[in-house]
Amino acid sequence: MVAGSLCLGGQAAAQDAAYSPTFLATVRRAAEVIPGEHPVSVGVLTPDVFTISIAFMVEGGSSERVPAGHPAFQIRFPRGWIMVDASIDREIAKNDTSFSDERYRRIHEALRDARLAVVTHEHQDHVAGLIRSPYLAEVQRHALLTRAQMRVLLDKPNDPRIKLDSATAARYLVVDYDPIMPIARGVVLIRAPGHTPGSQMVYVRLASGRELVLAGDVAWHISGIQTQRQKPEESTKSFGGEDRAAIGQQLRWLKELPPEITVVPAHDQMLIDQLVARKVLRRGFDLEAK
Ligand SMILES: [Zn+2]
Repeated sequence: MVAGSLCLGGQAAAQDAAYSPTFLATVRRAAEVIPGEHPVSVGVLTPDVFTISIAFMVEGGSSERVPAGHPAFQIRFPRGWIMVDASIDREIAKNDTSFSDERYRRIHEALRDARLAVVTHEHQDHVAGLIRSPYLAEVQRHALLTRAQMRVLLDKPNDPRIKLDSATAARYLVVDYDPIMPIARGVVLIRAPGHTPGSQMVYVRLASGRELVLAGDVAWHISGIQTQRQKPEESTKSFGGEDRAAIGQQLRWLKELPPEITVVPAHDQMLIDQLVARKVLRRGFDLEAK
């Protein structure tokens, strides 16, 4: 299910291709190169739902408080699945009264039984489930981190509780690619450093033809993409800020995607609930037919 990096011409050509006008065509082409069946659905499970002001998430946003959470996603194939993001750790979230131990348990079962698990970036609220797992040895066998993600986890993670030593790091699968890498039929990783050095997005094309981009934290709220407004600098201080030029390019690309492609920022729980209601995403995980 894991292919090597797709090298498009020389190094310079590969870098020019990222987020250029022809980039989507390249991503779509890469999605079809690995043999096998397309995924059939993308499921989502959020263990905790809290509210946060749009002003915290988007520059110039209103003080209105909206639902947010720390979801994990399941790209479901006829047999087996790929996980995208691993949610927050129970202990790290311990003051959060909305936290559901039942949903948390289900996320960890899904991570344990996945064929492959990737994260949109190396912040603890996305990667903790791969590092502080109750099924750690099983999860490490198929957890695929990028070299950039691993470097941050070894050197300066945003939470000391997810810091890795080199012996533990060696138990994970680590890859490097630029700018894209197909990992299964219909699933392509898109390198997106900016929010963090190891950030990436995940393009998905389902058997039905539906296309989604799991965008991680390029934006925290869909209005950041719609209005092309970044996160307030004050809100990104705690993890050392972002590469705003790179994020600007990614926000532009996401906004200009054709309307049939659904963009899912990880923390916008209101949007996620709307997408579940419209059957674009599926609520919960299907853990049969591993
Ligand atoms: Zn996050």
